[in-house]
Amino acid sequence: MNVAKDPLPRSLIPLPDESLPGFLLRLAHRLDLSPGQVARRTGLAHSPTGLAPASSLLMLESTPLNLFARSARVTPAAADSLTLRPYTDRYPALTHALVREGSTPRPRSVFPLWLLMAYSRYCPTCLAGDDTPIQRRHGGPWKREWRLAITFACLDHQVFLRNDCPRCRLPVFGGRGSRLTLLPAQHTPGLHPAQCRNPPSESSPAGSGICGHRLDSAEPPEVSLSPALAELQRRLMGLLTSEGQPERAFQRFADLQVAAALIQAGWPAAANLAPSEAQPALAAHNAPQAHPAPSPQQPLPSSGRPVTTAWSTPPGDAVATAALLAASEQLVTQDPFESRSALPQLLRYLPTRQDPRWGTTWRMLAHDASPSFRHQVEKVYQLRLHFDWIRQGAPTQSITKARSVHRLFAPLLTLKDHGFAAEHIPQFLPESWLAVFSDSFDRRTPRSRLLRRMLPIHLIQAVSNLNLLEAAEFLGVPLSWSTGRRPRLNTRQPPDHLRGQGARDALERLAQHIARQRKFDYQARRTLLTGWHLDDQTWNRICRQHRRLTGPRPGALTRECASALVWSRVTGSEYSLAPIFQPPISPLNRQLDAASPAMMFLWRWDHENPPFPDVLEALEALALQIIEAPTHAP
Ligand SMILES: [Zn+2]
Ligand SMILES: [Zn+2]
Repeated sequence: MNVAKDPLPRSLIPLPDESLPGFLLRLAHRLDLSPGQVARRTGLAHSPTGLAPASSLLMLESTPLNLFARSARVTPAAADSLTLRPYTDRYPALTHALVREGSTPRPRSVFPLWLLMAYSRYCPTCLAGDDTPIQRRHGGPWKREWRLAITFACLDHQVFLRNDCPRCRLPVFGGRGSRLTLLPAQHTPGLHPAQCRNPPSESSPAGSGICGHRLDSAEPPEVSLSPALAELQRRLMGLLTSEGQPERAFQRFADLQVAAALIQAGWPAAANLAPSEAQPALAAHNAPQAHPAPSPQQPLPSSGRPVTTAWSTPPGDAVATAALLAASEQLVTQDPFESRSALPQLLRYLPTRQDPRWGTTWRMLAHDASPSFRHQVEKVYQLRLHFDWIRQGAPTQSITKARSVHRLFAPLLTLKDHGFAAEHIPQFLPESWLAVFSDSFDRRTPRSRLLRRMLPIHLIQAVSNLNLLEAAEFLGVPLSWSTGRRPRLNTRQPPDHLRGQGARDALERLAQHIARQRKFDYQARRTLLTGWHLDDQTWNRICRQHRRLTGPRPGALTRECASALVWSRVTGSEYSLAPIFQPPISPLNRQLDAASPAMMFLWRWDHENPPFPDVLEALEALALQIIEAPTHAP
């Protein structure tokens, strides 16, 4: 139903940080139309209901985006900036709200809890606008950050945000019933953008009138914003908008969400982590939980939160949210082995992870949280918790089990401050590095192969917070290698070189050697070449180098090995891990050992008189070319 839209007669310039619904309200006010009419004329409302969908708060796909931009007389970039899409890679709830097919995301119909889809927080003074004629007439911005649960304060006006209307007491911008839309009362004309659009009270049916209270005249919450909480808000906004690595922000927000769930589930065990002025608000929010857990079908009294996700839901109230985030940040950044640390104390009181009120908390800890926070939670469980309690189904049971099977010796060694990091270590230790480690053994023996495979895993553990399984995973080593019936990572009986007192010195010597080498980001290369193999065009080009007229031609086996060789040269990983030998390209149960034809062939390529030497030469050149391409540089 995309009708070609004529540009509106007049428009407005979006205000800094303005949200799409806020822009729509101001535009409707300027044009004397209802927001619904503007939504329809700009192509936002194309469903049979004629209502702009809630998902357009998150992003507009390319066709609607261009349509909207043209008819609202703004650039596509400005239209995109009215949505939350620019934060997608940094804010886990947004990442989870969008599906990615190929490289273009689009909104799903499921909205994670840390996106405030059903209401907006607001700062009355921001809504009142500044002194410019346009803001005096149409008010200030409804900001898009107010829809992220981590936003609890306005830093321009140094106040906590509100989330309800002082007259009708309902959350503002409230979604009613099961159907979320971009704006309530979209078809009501004549309201100022700062007026409450809720029905007059909770009991009256929708459509029987509008509350209409001027929210720009509302008082901010009575609790005043302390410098420490303002600073916390500044840090959180910094994570969203800074130039730094998005992964860091993403992991920190995930850590905070997990910590927030831990704190709410164990309430009030960690209550004292919250700043005193904001603590009562958080206590009020968590009060219903002090009673025995209700049955999963039964909603909690007084708070509208569904029981199934109670602990992973952020409070609506901004002061309670500030208290929760401040406590969560402390939990995430505290050293858990300090005597006054709250984490062990808190974890002792938590219900098991089968409880539905955890929501997605444990999945988030496993997949989104930072390795160091995951490691801390796990380590505390392992060291401090009673065995019986773990047997009852404590959250990290399976990991704890896996760890106890594999006795680790690497955590005894720490190699900080050598100036290299986990990403600088390849999965398969180069032969030249092994020579530094010890010159006394033959590189062809199975033992030396085991060392070249194990040392990187130990090095990673020594320079990071990762445990054995995480370090192996980091290097792209399949979990089955450490848990399979015939483990290919033999950690229980390390070779003589890695036993006892000598191990530390040897690893130290190796670390010094690595520190002197030129550093490459092997992690980036592994990521870049995920699923990589030679395409038809490249392979045909390489085969043309084979000029010999007699004898065999390069066949399927050669091509398979060619893919493995290039991938291995670039990533510094062993041949058998190459994507060409893994599913979905190869069958799941494909067995590769030293006697497999592919491995034999690759072995011959690494030794004198290799088969198809001209092809090999072209492959080595291709690997170099990939390594030296500008985007692949360290
Ligand atoms: Zn403000
Ligand atoms: Zn109201």
